[in-house]
Amino acid sequence: MLRLPRFRYLRPKTAREAARMAAELGPRAMFVAGGTDLFPKLKRRQFDIDTVIGLDFLPREIHNGSREVAIGAGVTLAGASIDAHLNKNFRGYAEATGLVSSPPLRNVGTIGGNLCVDTRCNYYDMTYEWRKAAGFCMKKDGDICLVAPSSPRCWAVSSSDTAPMAMALEGMVSLSGPEGEREIPVAALYQDDGILYMTKHPAEVITWLHLRPAPGTRSAYVKLRRRGSIDFPIAGAAVAAQLDGETVISCRIILSAVASHPLEATAAEAFLKGKTLDAETIREAAEMAAKPAKPLDNADLSHFWRKRMVRVVVEQALGRISDQKAGFDG
Ligand SMILES: Cc1cc2nc3c(=O)[nH]c(=O)nc-3n(C[C@H](O)[C@H](O)[C@H](O)COP(=O)(O)OP(=O)(O)OC[C@H]3O[C@@H](n4cnc5c(N)ncnc54)[C@H](O)[C@@H]3O)c2cc1C
Ligand code: SF4
Repeated sequence: MLRLPRFRYLRPKTAREAARMAAELGPRAMFVAGGTDLFPKLKRRQFDIDTVIGLDFLPREIHNGSREVAIGAGVTLAGASIDAHLNKNFRGYAEATGLVSSPPLRNVGTIGGNLCVDTRCNYYDMTYEWRKAAGFCMKKDGDICLVAPSSPRCWAVSSSDTAPMAMALEGMVSLSGPEGEREIPVAALYQDDGILYMTKHPAEVITWLHLRPAPGTRSAYVKLRRRGSIDFPIAGAAVAAQLDGETVISCRIILSAVASHPLEATAAEAFLKGKTLDAETIREAAEMAAKPAKPLDNADLSHFWRKRMVRVVVEQALGRISDQKAGFDG
């Protein structure tokens, strides 16, 4: 049985206090919300820390305003997935939260934790003994990449289901740091690096997620994984589109689990502008969207097959958009 290492647990009362503690302790400390990603990784010794900073002060409400929905970072995935307003107006987001992992983990895992979930790789998400036998890799304890040994960087895969959907819906996050608060687009939270996959300062706490899409935006999330429950995505498509009748005014397509960050399919987005979402257009757009996806052999199932399936998940997501009623009415 894998055991947790010994650690100290701190319980700040506010985000600012938590951020100050994290800034002071540096890499020895990490935040914990639901713990569904952090604790299994601590058991596998994927992080070397001696302090865990609890985030149980985080807001757990969903505010439905006339121009946006604001979701507290402490809201559980289960709570978001059954919220009536999200299901009616931000369907893709509710779908994504409901497809994370399994029911017990969704009851505990939070939407803030899901935005920060660590990147994944078959050579990294293993026990210490397994990684040692394999010679370790640069993401933890080693110095080369075992997937692409001549590469100077890590290619671990962005595996959050909700981050791509929040990006497609023009999401913004509120961050609380040791020096103050700021708000940035969800898209600006990530960068294409398997190790330093987040741009925010490690001591900044995500406190709120704001979704502010244009009025009438429809959204859908389609996820591919081995089993219908528990498994992380091995490909996924988050689509949000604003339509005038049958004509696309704007569309955002963000791919999950095919790069170290949620990957925007910009050529397909531009192609769809002004088009009618008929079967032929959807097929062409999906073909285009799949082009930038370059999965490597470091996640479940064959990467050649995952690459082929990106077209399929995008096609399915666009198909759902074309059948859907307009969502958020601003
Ligand atoms: C078997 C299994 C299957 C899973 N399947 C999926 C899946 O299909 N899709 C998926 O997306 N995830 C999956 N997960 C990962 C995890 O359950 C979810 O991502 C969950 O949403 C993480 O939220 P949490 O609150 O438990 O985060 P935690 O584990 O508490 O934290 C995760 C990371 O985020 C940081 N953090 C947490 N909250 C904040 C915050 N508010 N501000 C700043 N940093 C923060 C922590 O320091 C840590 O680095 C799975 C996990 C397991 C064990
Ligand atoms: S992509 Fe390479 S460096 Fe990154 S976790 Fe996997 S094996 Fe390690």
